[in-house]
Amino acid sequence: SRREGFSAVPNVKWDDVGGLQFLRQEFDRYIVRRIKYPDDYEDFGVDLETGFLLYGPPGCGKTLIAKAVANEAGANFIHIKGPELLNKYVGESELAVRTIFSRARTCSPCLLFFDEVDALTTKRGREGGWVVERLLNQLLIELDGAEQRRGVYVIGATNRPEVMDRAVLRPGRFGKLLYVPLPTPDERGMILKAIARKKPLDADVDLMAIGKDSACENLSGADLSALMNEAAMAALEDKLTSSYKGPGGTSNGTSRTIKDTHFRRAL
Ligand code: ATP
Repeated sequence: SRREGFSAVPNVKWDDVGGLQFLRQEFDRYIVRRIKYPDDYEDFGVDLETGFLLYGPPGCGKTLIAKAVANEAGANFIHIKGPELLNKYVGESELAVRTIFSRARTCSPCLLFFDEVDALTTKRGREGGWVVERLLNQLLIELDGAEQRRGVYVIGATNRPEVMDRAVLRPGRFGKLLYVPLPTPDERGMILKAIARKKPLDADVDLMAIGKDSACENLSGADLSALMNEAAMAALEDKLTSSYKGPGGTSNGTSRTIKDTHFRRAL
């Protein structure tokens, strides 16, 4: 797969994201339109936050949203995994932070996504000690270089906002906190629909109803993606089984889709 820090415009669209309409609006205002119509934002002297923190339970679309934002804005996307950055040799991780920001500047507009950002910003004085502290200080220097940061947007993601050092949550840093919740029953249906866009779904399947099924209670987007995959597997197995029956078997066009029964089996 791609090496760490590789930049490109991601291929995730807003249509791939189910629910989370509120976040779409926020990012449209704060990032997407700003990149598309920089002169208008300049004319009105609008000074907006450029650093965000997406927080909430795992698997609910934080990474997906960040990619969709970059795609809609036509911006490059650099994905940094907090723990990987931290695991570099002492001293080297500070250099890595500098390198990441400098690369982001050269390919601006650019969205820098810090996944598991809490690993880098754990409250000072805790375990991990001075390695984290030095890395954190370097990160703050980069985040605060407002002029230099033009065209570089920063989004962090965490499941544990409470362990993060307050200093990084200030405006201009990861200052705008946005909660990414577990989906409601309706949103589960919308997520299933978003995921099904690329799947051969039978016309009779009612994904909104499946989303409301009690068996889907408390499932995250990632769980729903796994459910869709299992249903697709069940459909595939049906198709293969019927194909093996040979010329006299029941293999026909209708066995090429994912049906309600396949979801029932997966639930
Ligand atoms: P983590 O905190 O574990 O990193 P995350 O919040 O970043 O999780 P993602 O990586 O964005 O979650 O989601 C994992 C997968 O789950 C996505 O690739 C997608 O298939 C599915 N998914 C999650 N949320 C949604 C959503 N709102 N709409 C569509 N698919 C979703």
